[in-house]
Amino acid sequence: MNPKLLTTRWQSLPENAIRQLQIEKLRGYLRHLVLPFSPHYGELFRELGLTADSIRSLDDLRRIPFTTKADLLNTPEHPQRAKEFVITPDQRALVRKPNIILRALVRGRSRVQQELESEFRPIFMTSTTGRSADPIPFLFTRHDLDNLALTGRRTFEVCGAKRDMRMLNMFPYATHLAFWQAYYGGEAFGVFVASTGGGKVLGTEGQLRFIRKVQPDVLIGMPTFVYHVLHQAVEENVRCEPLKRIVIGGEKVPDGMRRKLVSLAAQLGAPKVDVVATYGFTEAKAAFAECPRAIDQPSCGYHLYPDLALFEVVDPKTGEPVPAGTPGELVYTPLDARGTVVLRYRTGDLIDGGLTYARCPSCGRTAPRLVGNISRVAEIREMRIDKIKGTLVDFNELEHVLDDCAHVGAWQIELRKHNDDPLELDELILHVAKHNGVPETQLVKELNERIASCAEIHPNRIQFHSSDEMRTLQGVGSELKERKLVDHRPTQTGAAALVAAPSVFSASAVSARRKSQVENPVSRDLENAA
Ligand SMILES: [Zn+2]
Repeated sequence: MNPKLLTTRWQSLPENAIRQLQIEKLRGYLRHLVLPFSPHYGELFRELGLTADSIRSLDDLRRIPFTTKADLLNTPEHPQRAKEFVITPDQRALVRKPNIILRALVRGRSRVQQELESEFRPIFMTSTTGRSADPIPFLFTRHDLDNLALTGRRTFEVCGAKRDMRMLNMFPYATHLAFWQAYYGGEAFGVFVASTGGGKVLGTEGQLRFIRKVQPDVLIGMPTFVYHVLHQAVEENVRCEPLKRIVIGGEKVPDGMRRKLVSLAAQLGAPKVDVVATYGFTEAKAAFAECPRAIDQPSCGYHLYPDLALFEVVDPKTGEPVPAGTPGELVYTPLDARGTVVLRYRTGDLIDGGLTYARCPSCGRTAPRLVGNISRVAEIREMRIDKIKGTLVDFNELEHVLDDCAHVGAWQIELRKHNDDPLELDELILHVAKHNGVPETQLVKELNERIASCAEIHPNRIQFHSSDEMRTLQGVGSELKERKLVDHRPTQTGAAALVAAPSVFSASAVSARRKSQVENPVSRDLENAA
């Protein structure tokens, strides 16, 4: 089979052809690029006695050990860990390769030198978000930027973009994938995109100014932020009748949030807006999109690019691949990346409907799709299921309940200790900005019932706020991601310090407090998730 088919017909190949071509492409990629030029994988394969030819089928993939985020973190022995994952060809070895010599003879040395530069020299980077550790840089070469434009263009196509549309990219301007995927995608697709840089660059007012001026057909951004902007737009009587679509990414998107975005858009004079979600992550250097569907229809999932990425779904406990359509953790392997390359990367993301190769019932593409909701394994393991007041609470579930509640606009869950005493009971305070004019007493009753039915707990308090106050609480415009879950509980170490050193009570209380902010992994992950 012609290997180019995987690219030229990425939307229409049958499953067996995709799988066969992917494994052939992976073998060539390992043989010519990864194993000779990646310090980490070159050594790892040598240690394990593996070569590119060890990978003959998808089943053989499991011979390649997983890579996790921890593998990329710096340690005293490896102060520049991420560098070991960068494809770095040895110039002298390269110029001795027969195909390079031939190319130099035919096209001239300087032209070939230029081509090698654009393939291998890192010229751009994005980095992972979490605040828990140093962000990990992912380097891009010109070749990767061309692929970023290609995946961006495809994302626009899958989302149903048209060239005469006007779009507003409200993702935060930072070294994060989302902003750049939208930027390069718009350029490659050939459509008007105004990039505002998000709340940190222009504030909410700046976004509204752009909405008034540009009158966009499409808004692109993180769901919580887009929600805030639209809510403010409604309060200020902004009109945006051309609006047809809202494309969201960077966070997961419960159905309730989609409905609220649609209802806010209707109040701007745009009654027929569909909401399309995207899924991307730093390590993939790409985002994948849903195709448009009616608000009452289930999502058809994220459409993958089989020529650029090989996805597996594995049992998060055993690491064993699971059958098609089965929930599990997403594992990613690139097929054409340069710069920073990770093989069999465990994303920590759980997909509850698994991977399917069936024809998309909405757009008809046969590209592989990830179906269902995506949630973070790490969140479930480390904090998403947490003991509050002695009861296990699943925050994923709780978030869905709050987002699905039609009367709740923005919200934040705050965990505290009673009187801020680390030995005291946990308290859960729910901060809410109402979405409409429902009486507070009625909403308190409804929220207590809904939360009790999902989590078997009651919030200690429900505090109502204006939209402005809520924006401050969530850090809209000052944080890259809005804070939806905050943990203000002091740690147990804090408690020990208080007991052990009563004479310096206030000083150790402060340091315990500081310590809890810095070292409490739960607190960190809450912030990361928010
Ligand atoms: Zn589709």
